[in-house]
Amino acid sequence: MALYAELHRHLGGSVVPRVLWRYFERHATDLIARFAEYSEFEDFYTRPRNTLDEYLELHTLVESVQTVETLPYFIYRLLRGAYIFENLAYLELRYTPYLRTPEHLSQPERIDKMAEIVEVVGKASHLPEYPIVTSQILCMHTRLPLEVNRAIIDLAVQNKQYVCGIDVAGGDRYYEERLDEWISLYDYARSLGVNTTGHLYETTAGCYPQLLPYLMRIGHGIQIPLLYPELLADVARRGQCLEVCPTTYLKTGTLEDIRQLKLVFDQCFDAGVDIAICTDNAGLHNVRLPFEYENLLTYDIISFGQLQACQNAAFRHAFAWPYAQPPASLLSGLLKPESPKVLAMRD
Ligand SMILES: [Zn+2]
Repeated sequence: MALYAELHRHLGGSVVPRVLWRYFERHATDLIARFAEYSEFEDFYTRPRNTLDEYLELHTLVESVQTVETLPYFIYRLLRGAYIFENLAYLELRYTPYLRTPEHLSQPERIDKMAEIVEVVGKASHLPEYPIVTSQILCMHTRLPLEVNRAIIDLAVQNKQYVCGIDVAGGDRYYEERLDEWISLYDYARSLGVNTTGHLYETTAGCYPQLLPYLMRIGHGIQIPLLYPELLADVARRGQCLEVCPTTYLKTGTLEDIRQLKLVFDQCFDAGVDIAICTDNAGLHNVRLPFEYENLLTYDIISFGQLQACQNAAFRHAFAWPYAQPPASLLSGLLKPESPKVLAMRD
């Protein structure tokens, strides 16, 4: 049985349009008043955007309704869907905790509130009826000042039972203005033993080799094989994994055709760089992880063997998967046809 690991999914983009629509119908009809019916809303919510900035703007719509009170509602539906439709055994969920705190509070008050958000997300992610190993990645954000981003790292250190790493989000073109700051933040995180990933080399404007040595995994990173293949040897030597999210690049206008990803996979396989295939925003795209896999096969971007290599890489690079092996090897003993239990069931 194939069970999967998802390493790159945003809490804000993980709400599928139907669940969001139902939520608005029940609790915030003003936010959907301009849509005559669900299909119009779905079109609006999932249609491709011209730039990464426009695309990220949509996250604020969901962030505005994901509060400490409503997070369990959304997370329950997220895990239910991930278990039933996506066969996930492992899920790292990422978000910026500061952006889930009440806007009217002062900055120090909002920083203090972040711990509560992490706890609420952590508790809501443990559902006995949908047993998925989950952990959180806390995202620093380009819109937030140094003190808040440093507090996000401290929060990761203090909440190891819920948090497995940190990230930076908000558009990779904006790092340049404060590059020294981002380097010092990542250096600080590594000095405290925090696992690191970061949205980097996603767009052509987001290529900063100075940040690469601080990352254990690279969020997207597709511009490395596309534009700077000479960096791949170092990426391989550092054992860094690329979190490639195929549908994203079409929704953000970063790529025109999914087949452009063939070069990404070919170059990485040649250089010995691992790739984990991820969804990024499965809800916003309305594309679940198994369909990301299937699309790559359909377009002849990868082979079945390569797909399985990527699926295994995802478990190897997972920050909080507690076993040495992917789940298939744990389950195969149970599911062997000669198992006495199965024979008994046949009688
Ligand atoms: Zn992302």
